[in-house]
Amino acid sequence: MAFPIPRATFSWVSSFRSSSLSHSHLLPIPLCLSSPTHSLTPMRAFDTLASLSNTTAHNPSSPPTVHKVSKNRWKPMCLYHTQGKCTKMDDAIHLEKFNHDCSRDLEVNIAELKHIRSQNLDFFLVLDLEGRVEILEFPVLMINAKTMDVMDFFHRFVRPSEMSEQRINEYIEGKYGKFGVDRVWHDTAIPFTEVLQQFEVWLAQHHLWEKELGGRLNQAAFVTCGNWDLKTKVLQQCKVSKMKLPPYFMEWINLKDVYLNFYKRRATGMMTMMKELRIPLVGSHHLGIDDTKNIARVLQHMLADGALVQITARRNSDSPENVEFLFKNRIR
Ligand SMILES: [Zn+2]
Repeated sequence: MAFPIPRATFSWVSSFRSSSLSHSHLLPIPLCLSSPTHSLTPMRAFDTLASLSNTTAHNPSSPPTVHKVSKNRWKPMCLYHTQGKCTKMDDAIHLEKFNHDCSRDLEVNIAELKHIRSQNLDFFLVLDLEGRVEILEFPVLMINAKTMDVMDFFHRFVRPSEMSEQRINEYIEGKYGKFGVDRVWHDTAIPFTEVLQQFEVWLAQHHLWEKELGGRLNQAAFVTCGNWDLKTKVLQQCKVSKMKLPPYFMEWINLKDVYLNFYKRRATGMMTMMKELRIPLVGSHHLGIDDTKNIARVLQHMLADGALVQITARRNSDSPENVEFLFKNRIR
């Protein structure tokens, strides 16, 4: 399907401006299937591993070889493309400058999959919301539980509904200005209710959820780093946006709890897990789309090490404000 043309005229982040806007058509939802010729380059050198001297039941695998590494130059994602709104797919300069392959940085070495175990779920939906006051970004990465491949991507910038224009401008400049993506945010952000409508179409296309059945996800679960995204933030945003909490947000996997129970080691955040597993950070920390990729890289590494990744938290269906935590040992 095609997306409606956004209200704002397209203009590009500073580095886009020199290239010509030679066409104006909108592309369909990108199915970000892996292209074998595109591979990744780590952004940073591997961190040294100072904290892994303890003997544990499952030591993180020694060499950081789960992800493919190539010498190709790393490029930032085209954030119009991730939202199905890039109009420059035939502009060679634009393609040279920005990455349009959502699975880049997430390609795994097949040889590293020998410890992978069968999972209770078919797909993981890695989610990392941005925005403390209201949600500003909603990125989801769909990972195949068997092959660890990226199946697709859903990414939208979200326009707050209860903030003045001036406050929004200040907020976005402070939050996204430093990454140089405030312009694309303003060009593309839509209200949370519209984001969820589009997300539901996306879920249904992948047979992960059916509106008519009205229930939870089908053979899939959200994976987050901590409980904040789905326990706290989505619930708050639904109240602000005056909507009912959708049923697909009733349960989730807090990767930090799975990490604790599998490696027998506490990790307070994404950066700690990445450091301990020696996974190089890609992109910009606190840009939601990049954090989602990095959390997905931690998930892939844990799957390759043999972790069983299962639901850790569930809302009570009669009183959704009450959350039951399913693991005895968990990060508090
Ligand atoms: Zn593009």
